Amino acid sequence: MRIAFIGLGAMGRPMATHLLAQGFDLRVNDANAGLADTFGDAWASSPDEAARGAAVAVTMLPNGHIVRDVILGSGGVADALGSGGIVVDTSSSDAGGTVALGEELKARGISLIDAPVSGGVPLAAEGKLTLMVGGTDEAAFTAAQPVLEALSAKLMRVGGLGAGHAAKAINNAIAAAIFAVTSEGVDMGARFGLDPAALLEVINASSGRSGISEGLFPSQVLSRKFALGFGLPLMAKDVALADKLRDELGLKLPMIEATHRQMQAALAALGQQADFTDYFRFNEQTASAG
Ligand code: NAD
Repeated sequence: MRIAFIGLGAMGRPMATHLLAQGFDLRVNDANAGLADTFGDAWASSPDEAARGAAVAVTMLPNGHIVRDVILGSGGVADALGSGGIVVDTSSSDAGGTVALGEELKARGISLIDAPVSGGVPLAAEGKLTLMVGGTDEAAFTAAQPVLEALSAKLMRVGGLGAGHAAKAINNAIAAAIFAVTSEGVDMGARFGLDPAALLEVINASSGRSGISEGLFPSQVLSRKFALGFGLPLMAKDVALADKLRDELGLKLPMIEATHRQMQAALAALGQQADFTDYFRFNEQTASAG
């Protein structure tokens, strides 16, 4: 079974490399033609060339707008796949956009599965990502299952089309909110005179603890490394997607709305190269700004 893989960035490159190592018949493409040498014979010069003759096309692109463009735009994947083809979007895309894309593809006989991931670059390289899969087309899921399983250590089917993308955005909005409030608490404690390491020990032995206080704070914040490898722009995008979903549902959710504002403010201050954990520094800078 031929697989097309489009998007070879921080995540897509190790995922595609892992699939090749597992023996999948892969054709890959990225807007960055400089990656051609890295992939040798598996490289295709365009998304539609990668998708020609493929049964499944996997996308790992920055956002849902780009996914839509690569699938439906001129020279896109949909024309090359044709009726019976399957698209698996592993990007963190917009749930509403995924539902709309799925309907347009269905009219052309193409199935869409959303399968965003968590786990980051190291787990992508090992094929041990967590996948949250949306879509109810059982035949499409069964056909794509070997690829999905090769990429993941844990695969969760979470509902209809778009459910994976909604779950991913909601999870990341919660993680961003926890990171932001933990930053506020640790910084406030330091200003009072508490040793941040001692305060963190208290939090981690008490009810304020989280995966973030136990993991990211010791490794990235107390060490002042701020190099998780998950960019602030990507986190800000995910929180924006959760806030968009909230708006589409007509809900008032002050914590998610505030986290969206905070991530956008941090991004404006720190720029596109910032790591997500640099948010702590933004909090330090703005806490006493008046
Ligand atoms: P990235 O920016 O490193 O890579 C994106 C790749 O897409 C780049 O190589 C770029 O050249 C390519 N691209 C952009 N437009 C294209 C087009 N029109 N045609 C072909 N290729 C195109 O991003 P990433 O970190 O790999 O993230 C990809 C997705 O995975 C995002 O939605 C992100 O939110 C999500 N994600 C990232 C992480 C992480 O730790 N980095 C973890 C989980 C999920």
